[in-house]
Amino acid sequence: MAEHEHVRVAVIGSGFGGLGAAVRLRREGITDFVVLERADSVGGTWRDNSYPGCACDVPSHLYSFSFAPHPDWPRTFSGQRHIRAYLEHVTDLFGLRPHLRLGSEVKLMTWDDENLRWTIETTRGTLTADVVVSATGPLSDPKIPDVPGLDSFPGKVFHSARWDHDYDLRGKRVAVIGTGASAIQIVPAIQPQVGRLTLFQRTPPWVLPRVDRAISGAERWLHRRLPVTAQVRRGLLWGIRELQVQAFTKRPDELGLVEQLAKRNMARAIKDPELRARLTPDYRIGCKRILLSSAYYPALARPNVDVVGGLSEIRGSTAVAADGTEAEVDVIIFSTGFHVTDMPIAERVVGAEGITLAESWKNGMRALRGASAAGFPNWMSIIGPNTGLGNSSMILMIESQLSYMADYLRQLNVLGGRTALDARPAAVDAWNDRVQERMKRTVWSTGGCTSWYLDASGRNTTIWPGTTTEFRRATRRVDLAEYEVLRKPAPVSGAGPAGRTSGAAA
Ligand SMILES: Cc1cc2nc3c(=O)[nH]c(=O)nc-3n(C[C@H](O)[C@H](O)[C@H](O)COP(=O)(O)OP(=O)(O)OC[C@H]3O[C@@H](n4cnc5c(N)ncnc54)[C@H](O)[C@@H]3O)c2cc1C
Repeated sequence: MAEHEHVRVAVIGSGFGGLGAAVRLRREGITDFVVLERADSVGGTWRDNSYPGCACDVPSHLYSFSFAPHPDWPRTFSGQRHIRAYLEHVTDLFGLRPHLRLGSEVKLMTWDDENLRWTIETTRGTLTADVVVSATGPLSDPKIPDVPGLDSFPGKVFHSARWDHDYDLRGKRVAVIGTGASAIQIVPAIQPQVGRLTLFQRTPPWVLPRVDRAISGAERWLHRRLPVTAQVRRGLLWGIRELQVQAFTKRPDELGLVEQLAKRNMARAIKDPELRARLTPDYRIGCKRILLSSAYYPALARPNVDVVGGLSEIRGSTAVAADGTEAEVDVIIFSTGFHVTDMPIAERVVGAEGITLAESWKNGMRALRGASAAGFPNWMSIIGPNTGLGNSSMILMIESQLSYMADYLRQLNVLGGRTALDARPAAVDAWNDRVQERMKRTVWSTGGCTSWYLDASGRNTTIWPGTTTEFRRATRRVDLAEYEVLRKPAPVSGAGPAGRTSGAAA
């Protein structure tokens, strides 16, 4: 067999997850690693989503790494350009560039049980790694629904996560499909310049006002001179969300009060009772992601905007809604989300039993502590199953998973030799059962909606049903009793098959 480049760790992806993993590896003294990224620059979500109006909906001082504070955030909710620049800055600050392999899309990863390592085939060649850290992102592969007639649409079509900046929207008849987090940012940003905007809405979202403002020069100066002030600010932002989440996870009825705020946000801008009725959700707030915008409803009230039912068909250049409304359009912008519960990377990982992760997850994604899947030794995901949040910063969850990754690598070092850890099926089941049991009481299960948090069988395999503190506690250390330890016999005995021992006994 041809000899390939070998590394201790291969990280896949260069968004917050992959870059965070790279920083943590260096801090752990590990330099023998690469970051494989299919695109030609870092940034993940914040590189790919450059649509007009794109911004975070968690305040920037919380939506950033704790180990890389940024006193100069320009706004409370910074825009895509600033977040992307922050990630470029982190890449330079921590000396990550030599580890980057840009333009390297991972096509296949295969577990080599004989040598206890992964063989990774990329568009730029093959390499092997002892450990794979998969940070390919839950929202990185855009989904376009199968709409009858779309193939023969004569106009322009693109997804919000792949915005075509060369296409001039001025004066055009535009169809925006979907009313999720991206759409509600796009609509007010493009409404003033387009000729006509038809918004195809399957289900209305709950939208709260977004209290966004510029962070003053004085505040920034204070954060630079006295970094503790930025920490206090972050702490407050975190603490409020930590308290709020109890309503989502344990007492959904309390969210009724928040619905009143959202209704007021709508009533301020939408005076037409018929339109207001169409825009009012019939499920509990929080069941789908709560959206933040003070500009969305005012844009919908403008005379060049129509809100119609979900897109059902394209006939030539006519977009037809489920309620029968027809609109002649020049361009269709799909703001229809991502492959979340069917992430494409799972098709590309072949584990110890010769099956793909997608096959192993055919009844739903599951991973021990959101990281390790049984039968996929030394492979872990960042933002794996049930690690998503409905109300706080994903960076908190990513950092918890990085602690888990660091301890995992420490444990491998302590065990010594060529060793791998394979999550025990019973441990994965026990973790998953606990998560699903807690899920039953949450607003995501009881709120009466269908959301992208649910998989094809209706199970919520994406959201963490607790506080970020609870997740941090659960991922502080790797419990070896939850793993089987795989060892390669000492070299003198030849290259025999690897042995398996109980993690508890190791
Ligand atoms: C528009 C938008 C706004 C958001 N706003 C917020 C917010 O306000 N607050 C919040 O908490 N979360 C938000 N999120 C969620 C966001 O996805 C996460 O917060 C976080 O950025 C995810 O980071 P990541 O590194 O896991 O994934 P990503 O940023 O998606 O990065 C994944 C990387 O993996 C690469 N990749 C994928 N497959 C392969 C492959 N086969 N080979 C090589 N490379 C590959 C991709 O190119 C990408 O660079 C938002 C998401 C979107 C889409």
